[in-house]
Amino acid sequence: MVNKLVFATHNDNKVKELNHILPASINIVSLKEIGWEKEIEEPHFTLEDNAKEKAMVLHQALGDACFAEDSGLFIDGLDGAPAVFSARYATKNNVELDNMDFVLQQMVDIDARSAHFKTVICFAENNTFYYFTGICEGEIMRKKIGKGGFGYDPIFTPKGANKTFGEMTMEEKSKYSHRKKATDLFITFLEARYGTN
Ligand code: IMP
Repeated sequence: MVNKLVFATHNDNKVKELNHILPASINIVSLKEIGWEKEIEEPHFTLEDNAKEKAMVLHQALGDACFAEDSGLFIDGLDGAPAVFSARYATKNNVELDNMDFVLQQMVDIDARSAHFKTVICFAENNTFYYFTGICEGEIMRKKIGKGGFGYDPIFTPKGANKTFGEMTMEEKSKYSHRKKATDLFITFLEARYGTN
């Protein structure tokens, strides 16, 4: 099995969430752990292109197999926004609100509340790029509910659940999570490629 894979992220929440999902045989190392301090740009307009950009920059620098992930929230009533701008949605629109408050404000008069989270993982090995995608359908609440998780968790209820991601434990969230679905596909790929022990 793979001993060590560098994950192109500075986001400790993601590393924590992913380590919670991954079998112990897969050893994920964050950028911090390898002493990489620079931010890697996300200059593109799709999650696929941004994930590839991060994996490619790291792969070219390290030479080793590595991977990157990009996620976003896509709200139908907002024409698919905030999408690739999910992390800086309010700032990008010059609004001094947090991202969730900005979404809630924009959706006050919108009854169609459907939305989805999407995660794309890009794995780079020998200058070849492999993609793994996970989607979680759900809806946007009318106010924040719950204090758990991160990002938009308190305003998003996944399809089939009766509470928001913000009210769920990590375990509960992973039953629905876009990141978990993409990660499951990625793990299956790694196991087929490198074996399970
Ligand atoms: P990133 O580019 O993968 O870091 O994700 C962009 C942004 O999407 C994050 O900063 C969050 O605001 C949002 N996001 C991605 N995944 C989740 C999630 O599981 N819950 C809540 N927000 C998320």
